[in-house]
Amino acid sequence: MQEYVFDPKDYTLEDKIKFHCYKGIVCFNRCCYDVKLILTPYDFLCLRKFLDMSVEDFVEKYGEVYIGEITQLPVISINMDPYSMACPFLNEKEGCTVYPVRPSSCRLYPLARYLKKNEKGETVEIYKIIRETHCKGHYENRELTIKEYLEEQGLIPYFYYNDLWAQVVEKRQKFADTPLTEDMLELIFTLVYDIPGLRKAIENGEIEGLSKDLLSLPDEKLLEQGMLYVKDKLLTEENLNW
Ligand code: SF4
Ligand code: SF4
Repeated sequence: MQEYVFDPKDYTLEDKIKFHCYKGIVCFNRCCYDVKLILTPYDFLCLRKFLDMSVEDFVEKYGEVYIGEITQLPVISINMDPYSMACPFLNEKEGCTVYPVRPSSCRLYPLARYLKKNEKGETVEIYKIIRETHCKGHYENRELTIKEYLEEQGLIPYFYYNDLWAQVVEKRQKFADTPLTEDMLELIFTLVYDIPGLRKAIENGEIEGLSKDLLSLPDEKLLEQGMLYVKDKLLTEENLNW
């Protein structure tokens, strides 16, 4: 797996970058090999629904579920082809076959995004440019602001749900040394990755504090409720015996 090289400069939303990626560029698809493709809960929901697959079938065909080393929370990642190392969604001629629902990391490339607090305690977004020698988009003569690039890539709804997931991860990291029980890990998986399973559990009254009124919500809003539940109801001092 190739290590990223970051441009040392920090960029803000209004800063301009030079970048253009398009079908036909000499390096077309080169970035879709040997990628560590970790899906956020919102990435997974969008992809799974687009492919019209169950959670189990998707994971069995394309990925794996494991406990993230740093987050100590369940994650789903996509397995590359063991021989060619291509992403399973890549069509060599046409490009990405799941382009309308490609994961946020694919949309964001060649940028990396960080959230940090400024001196006033406000959350600010910082961007870094990833420079890999195979990516020729950096040499194209197109200039646009980071904000324009994010809008072009359809990232705004992804950030909304991914930032909530980042808050869950941040909460978990406050007590990373406290192991979670298997039951809790399973419940967290259901709450954030298995939305059909979450609907069933709510229907059967299996999750205390989640009322059947939530069943009228669309999937992404139910996912939002699931992530809030993990952050505010499961990862608490009381539950984890701080
Ligand atoms: S999901 Fe699409 S864009 Fe992302 S690595 Fe796979 S083929 Fe490439
Ligand atoms: S320009 Fe960069 S992002 Fe676009 S296809 Fe080439 S390697 Fe991938």
